[in-house]
Amino acid sequence: MTPAPVRWSGRDWVPGERLSGRTTAPEFPADAPVVGVLALQGDVLEHLRALARCGARPVRVRRVADLEHVDGLIVPGGESTTIGKLLVRAELLEPLRERITGGLPTFGTCAGMILLSRELDQEAPQPLLGVLGVRTRRNAFGRQVDSFDTSLAIAGVAGEPMDVSFIRAPWVEEVLDGDVEVLASVDGKPVVVRQGHVLATAFHPEVTGDDRLHQRFVDDLR
Ligand code: GLN
Repeated sequence: MTPAPVRWSGRDWVPGERLSGRTTAPEFPADAPVVGVLALQGDVLEHLRALARCGARPVRVRRVADLEHVDGLIVPGGESTTIGKLLVRAELLEPLRERITGGLPTFGTCAGMILLSRELDQEAPQPLLGVLGVRTRRNAFGRQVDSFDTSLAIAGVAGEPMDVSFIRAPWVEEVLDGDVEVLASVDGKPVVVRQGHVLATAFHPEVTGDDRLHQRFVDDLR
């Protein structure tokens, strides 16, 4: 009789990692900050892996209860219209907005930056968290074929410029609040901004293996 296949799932399960011989750190130190990754759509796995490499305990956030124990939150890249709709459907938009406004350190990448923005440079409305005082332009660098990798000097990131990937990326069209810091720009357009505990990048730092922004985010949570 063939034995029943072992089923793997649960909180720290990362699909495929065990089968491919790669594992995320299975043991996290007791004092590892717990970082939620909004896991409705987009490049969730890449962020989970980057966080684990940086010594955080990553957890997926799919419903309000998942927010309870997180020390920080990542809003990943993907498709902001889809993530927005799913946030509404999961009844997460309001609770998330409240937690972030209440001080939850949050890091958004690409579609994450779009979702965090207060305004978009477009007519069509879409659900937004609206916690970052900027007006953002979606797909600002062009279409999918105009996506590019580059290295970019970012204020506060020591050493060589960072390796980053712009994939149908936005930029900040206008900074709306006086306390928004611009940490990097491309062609004069802000692509890394921070307002207090909310950090956003127009690019994907989670796909290049250059973890310095994730590391700083995690270190600041300690
Ligand atoms: N263009 C996408 C959007 O508008 C964002 C792309 C990305 O996250 N890589 O939501």
